[in-house]
Amino acid sequence: MKMEIKHFEVKSYPEMWKSLGMDVGRFEKMRCVLGDIYQTTYLTQENRPEAMDYFNWIVSEIHGGRIAEILDAKKQKRPVVGTFCVFIPEEIVIAAGGVCVGLCGGSQGPVPDAEKVLPRNICPMVKSSYGFKIAKVCPYFQAVDFIYGETTCDAKKKTWELLDKEVPTYVMEIPQMKRMRDRTLWMEEVKDFKAKIEEITAKEISFDALFKAITIINEKRSALQRLTSLRYHNPSPISGKDALLIEQISFFDEPVRFTQKVNELCDELDGRIRNGISAMPESSVRIMVSGTPMAMPNWKIHNIIESSGGIVVNEESCIGTRYFKDLIDENSNNMDEMLLKLTERYMKIDCSCFTPNNDRIEQILKEYGDSNAKGILHYSLQFCHTYNIEAVKIKDACDKQGIPFLSIESDYSPEDIGQLRTRVEAFIEQVKV
Ligand code: SF4
Ligand code: SF4
Repeated sequence: MKMEIKHFEVKSYPEMWKSLGMDVGRFEKMRCVLGDIYQTTYLTQENRPEAMDYFNWIVSEIHGGRIAEILDAKKQKRPVVGTFCVFIPEEIVIAAGGVCVGLCGGSQGPVPDAEKVLPRNICPMVKSSYGFKIAKVCPYFQAVDFIYGETTCDAKKKTWELLDKEVPTYVMEIPQMKRMRDRTLWMEEVKDFKAKIEEITAKEISFDALFKAITIINEKRSALQRLTSLRYHNPSPISGKDALLIEQISFFDEPVRFTQKVNELCDELDGRIRNGISAMPESSVRIMVSGTPMAMPNWKIHNIIESSGGIVVNEESCIGTRYFKDLIDENSNNMDEMLLKLTERYMKIDCSCFTPNNDRIEQILKEYGDSNAKGILHYSLQFCHTYNIEAVKIKDACDKQGIPFLSIESDYSPEDIGQLRTRVEAFIEQVKV
């Protein structure tokens, strides 16, 4: 059954955008393009779960309804913090009564703006993010009070210096190794982050407030874990594209409402599994995607896979399991203990910026087995050296275990879609045999 949406539209809020100092004329065109892409990518899917209606609504209100909620929070003097990395501890922002918004850019639109300032040969995520700000075409970017960047990669950490001229940008130093002294460094960074947020709000974060925030985000991560485990059922009750969309929305939606809606969807998926309803034909080849994050609206690879006879059953990525596989231990007696537990949870993130990073390889093999996938597609954004190089070790590990493996590198432009499709189709044929 196809969704009964004749013409999908991302809603227009020109007055609100004007008040945020945006380039309204240009953004209006981007809004229309996003609506058209969403319609053709998402709403043509057969047999979607009904609970996806909420996520359709979120996309339709992505530049208005959620922005209005964020502006309300600002009016109440609650801090609105923009981030680009899953290392920034959102629990601390929530504990301060604030709103945390993931700002990673996943669109080609503002890349040419960024390339007037930044070198062309850096990661498209960095260019897209910076371009959104300097072209004034992202209401989230315009709405945040300040930004927290990090030092995960060179392109990012040097871009923050430039971004600071546009919007106050603070930086957390992420360790690059996982020794005890690195954990100590990260703990100090977490404490500094908390102190900065307290300074801005002129209010100390209490034990109870941080405890509550930890439970809120643990519940959000648990709901995403539940969704992932349901996808592991063969046949999967939901498409990879829909699951990716939900993972992307998790970075800007209100967390309590989001968790409730994901759990409602999971209840429906439980029922679909019981009744033998799958999202795609049972012959679809199960593919696990691993690698760099896919920020909204980067649906390119999932779209290619799922229109080439495959179904994506897992994302080993920061917009994927790396964001939610670990929870914070909730058993603490005082603030120091709680910050230590928080630090320990974040140190489990296996981003390729760490060396060595063998935990990630073990995690990939585990998720491959759990997800009943038949092959791994490693995806790296162009010029992301750490993920590109780490793909070599992942390929070795896959070869040893006889796991079909394909590594691709891409950006946000549509130019390589034909070439990628040819490679993905050949990979799916190879996996089928
Ligand atoms: S891939 Fe690394 S740098 Fe990017 S969001 Fe994840 S942890 Fe942060
Ligand atoms: S994908 Fe790689 S290069 Fe791009 S921002 Fe993340 S770590 Fe940096």
